[in-house]
This record gives sequence, C-alpha cells and structure tokens, in this order.
Amino acid sequence: MTDPAPLRSHSVDDFVRAYENDRRLRGFRCGRCGATTATWGLACSRCGEAALEEAQLPENGRVIAGTIVAVASEEFVNEAPYAYVVVELEGGARVSGWMPGVRSEDEIAPGTRVRFQPSYKPGVQFARWNASGDDTGR
Ligand SMILES: [Zn+2]
Repeated sequence: MTDPAPLRSHSVDDFVRAYENDRRLRGFRCGRCGATTATWGLACSRCGEAALEEAQLPENGRVIAGTIVAVASEEFVNEAPYAYVVVELEGGARVSGWMPGVRSEDEIAPGTRVRFQPSYKPGVQFARWNASGDDTGR
C-alpha cells in the first residue's frame, strides 16, 4: 500500500485519543530545527521544513494565558470554578487545557509552571508544579 503523503494528518481527535488512551501529549517535532507543535501542519512554522515527525510532547510548561471559568458546560459542571489555560510546553508547543481547583487568576499568572496531569476527565488537564525548588512556581 502506497501513501504519497509524507505524514498522515493529525486531527484533534487523534490528539484527544492519544492522551486519553496513552496518557501522553502527542505532537510533532521538526526534523531540522527541533521545534515542536501540538498541531499537524504541512511544514514547520519556524523554519519551513516539511519533515515533521510524530513525537511525544514534554509534559512541563508555563501558562501564557488563562481565565477562570465560573459557568461550565455539562461535562465540567461539577468542576466550576476552574481555570482554562494556554500552556507553552518546554520546546515551544502550545496546548490549551484546564486546571481544576483554581479559583483566582492570580494562581495562573503568565509564567506559572504547570505539568500535564493525565486524567479520566475530558480535556487536557494541567496542575501547578514547582520544579526542583529553583523558584516558587508563583
Ligand atoms: Zn523547523
């Protein structure tokens, strides 16, 4: 069976299945510059290289934006209030997710260290995380 595509497409469903089944964050790494992304594309957004390979994404990152969700959809109704965050993982891939138990935007200030938290609940879950004491994690 021949497939002319250098890489099969990567859908949001694939991404969701990967962490729900394997407890992994799945994405792509550029074969030339090493940039990582959670989203499939035809070429590296940093250097234009077409050779993107599937890769497991790092689980640690920092919040770059976030907000508190007080009124939740049905799936999350028992979790509200919680935080919805955009996280830049080590290596540069950006992933959106949620953080249970966060009630104030002060807890998710830009730069806050977080770690992927495998969970049976829907969505990509993160938790605050302090690295080996080199800062307080804010
Ligand atoms: Zn690249």
